[in-house]
Amino acid sequence: MKSERQWDIKVSHYAQNTINPIRQVLENLNASPNPNKKLIPLSIGDPTVFGNLEPNNVIIEAMVESIQSNKFNGYLPSNGIESARKAIAEYSSTNNVQVDPKDVIITSGCSHALEMAINVLAEPGKNILLPRPGFPLYQTLCGGLGIGMKYYNLDAEKNWEIDLDHLEAQIDPSTVAIVYNNPSNPCGSVYSASHIRSFLEICEKHKVPVIADEIYEHLVFPGHKFTPIASLTQEVPILSCRGTTKRFMVPGYRCGWIIIHDKQERFGNPIRKGLNNLTHRIVGANSIVQGALPKILKEIPDEYFQDCISLIHANAKICYSITKRIPGLTPIMPTGAMYIMVGIDTSYFPELSSDLHFVERLMSEESIFVLPGKMFGVNGYIRIVLTVPSELLIEACNRLENFCLRNVILPSNQQQNGQPPTTPAKPLPLPLNLRESVKVD
Ligand SMILES: *Cc1c(COP(=O)(O)O)cnc(C)c1O
Repeated sequence: MKSERQWDIKVSHYAQNTINPIRQVLENLNASPNPNKKLIPLSIGDPTVFGNLEPNNVIIEAMVESIQSNKFNGYLPSNGIESARKAIAEYSSTNNVQVDPKDVIITSGCSHALEMAINVLAEPGKNILLPRPGFPLYQTLCGGLGIGMKYYNLDAEKNWEIDLDHLEAQIDPSTVAIVYNNPSNPCGSVYSASHIRSFLEICEKHKVPVIADEIYEHLVFPGHKFTPIASLTQEVPILSCRGTTKRFMVPGYRCGWIIIHDKQERFGNPIRKGLNNLTHRIVGANSIVQGALPKILKEIPDEYFQDCISLIHANAKICYSITKRIPGLTPIMPTGAMYIMVGIDTSYFPELSSDLHFVERLMSEESIFVLPGKMFGVNGYIRIVLTVPSELLIEACNRLENFCLRNVILPSNQQQNGQPPTTPAKPLPLPLNLRESVKVD
C-alpha cells in the first residue's frame, strides 16, 4: 500500500530546550584571537588542558589493573558495584556523617548525578532554585525538562555567601529543591559552617530538600575548610553530588556519585526507588572506573592533593595581585575550587559596553580567552581559570593589564592631564557597587 506520508522529521522539545548557556554565549561571541599572539585559554574548567596537573600514578595503575583483571567487562548493577559503593561510603564518612554503601549511587560523572537528582524531585509545573552566579549546567538540565528555574543571589561583597533573605523570598509552594554549590564554580568561594547552618535553617523552615553540588569537596586553600552540608543537619534531606572529576584531575573518566542523606526518611522509599529507576536509563556507569575506584579513593598520597592545591592557590594569589592593581577591575580572592571572579566596572572602559564586549576585545587584541559573567547569570564580571601553569597565567595577567590600560578612561577626578595612564597605575578606590551588579535578571 502506498503511503501519503512525507518525510517530516522534527526535533523533540526536550532536545530543543536542552540548552547549554556556554554554547549559546560562545556562538554569539564575536572574536577570534590576535594572530600575532599565542592564544591563552583561561576559559574551560578542565585541569588537564595544560599538562601541569596530571592525575596521580595510582589512578593510572588502578585503571590498568581494573582492565587486566578481566572482572569489569560486563554489566554491573545499575546503581554501581558494591565494592565501589563501599569505597565511596568510607571515603565520604566523617566523624559526623556515617555513609552507608546503600546510600551511594554511582553515576556517569557529577553532571549525571545532578541530572538524576533534579529528575527525581522535579517535573514541569514545579520549580527549582539555582544560585546566581552559578554553574550553567543546572539550567541545561532543568530547561529540557520544562522545570521552572528561579535564582537566588550570591553576595559578592560577602565573598559570595548566599543572600539568605533573597533566597527565602524565592521559595514558593511549587519549589521542590534548592541547588546549592560549595565550593563554588564560578566564584571559588567556600562557605563557613555557620553560613551553611543558616542556609539549612531556611530549608528546614520551608521543608525544601537540597541538591548539594559538592564536586569541589576538599579543594580548598590552606586556612579554609570544606564542611559537607550533610554533616550539619539531621533534619533536611540532601542529595549530595560528587565525583572524581575535579579533585583527581580526570574529568574524562565520567565518574560521579550521589550520596543520599535522609536521617528522618523524608525522601523515604519513593525517592530511593525513583533514583534507582533512573539508573536504568543508562544501565549504570562505566565499569572500568568502578573496578579502579577502591584503589583510587584509598591509595593516593595526601601530598598529591596538597601539591595540586598549592599550585591553584599560588595562581589565585598571582591573578589577584595583578588584577587588583588594574584600574576598573576588582578581583574577589577565592578560597577554593579553581576559579577567580574579577569585577569589571565598564564605566572605566567607555568603549566596552559589557563584560561580553570586554571578553571579545580581550580575545581579539590579546588572545586571552576568559568567560564573561553573563554565562553564569551576572553582569560585570569575568571568570578566570586557575589551573594553568603559573608562567602562562602571569603572561595572561600582564596582557590583561596592558589591554585595560590601553582602554581605560579614568573617571574625571582621577585623570592625569586628561589622558589615560600609560604605566601601571596604583590601586584606585573603585566606586564599584558589586552588590548592585549582581542583581540582574
Ligand atoms: C565540573 C563541574 C561539574 C561536573 O562534573 P563532571 O563529573 O565532569 O560531570 C558539576 N558541578 C560543577 C560546579 C562543576 O564545576
